[in-house]
Amino acid sequence: MKELKPTDREYLLSKIRDVKDFPKPGIVFKDITTLLNDREAFSFLMDHLEQRYREYDLDFIAGIDSRGFIFGSALSDRLGVGFVPIRKAGKLPYTTIAEKYALEYGFDEVEIHIDAFRGKEDAKVLLIDDLIATGGTAVAAANLINKAGAKCVEACMVLNLTFLEGREKLEKITPLYSVLDIS
Ligand code: AMP
Repeated sequence: MKELKPTDREYLLSKIRDVKDFPKPGIVFKDITTLLNDREAFSFLMDHLEQRYREYDLDFIAGIDSRGFIFGSALSDRLGVGFVPIRKAGKLPYTTIAEKYALEYGFDEVEIHIDAFRGKEDAKVLLIDDLIATGGTAVAAANLINKAGAKCVEACMVLNLTFLEGREKLEKITPLYSVLDIS
């Protein structure tokens, strides 16, 4: 199954909690901890991702700091491929490649280890995170994968806040699969 049925999407959406005014007034934070601590819902989501990505013949999955690590490492283990963390600046211990991106006010930066893909030329990499909002983080992460000598074949986000139009930015670099769209 490549995409979920509407009833399955409703089921998963019902497991995600909205927290108003976090981390600042006006933001509705999509809290995935209520999905993760529900054994059946988490396993249902992971079954779906495993089915979708089994045929992609991936070499690695790269997850974005920090909730992308949860889905990314679980999926890597299911598919039998390596996992690569993309982290906020200053967290990775070895030599890194960095990419800055603009926030509403100021900049943020993500990094990847220079040898993250173990020298495998054009390694096929899936990028994964819990949520795409404006797309800045995902665009920077996809750029890092490509700069590190691999190929970002798709980005997978559990949630897409469609009204912030991240898809439009990201799809200039890589296709996006969002499990759940929120408009
Ligand atoms: P952006 O770069 O604007 O696409 O923001 C995406 C990153 O910020 C992801 O790593 C998300 O986990 C986090 N994020 C942004 N907005 C929200 C939100 N409303 N709820 C939960 N996480 C969010």
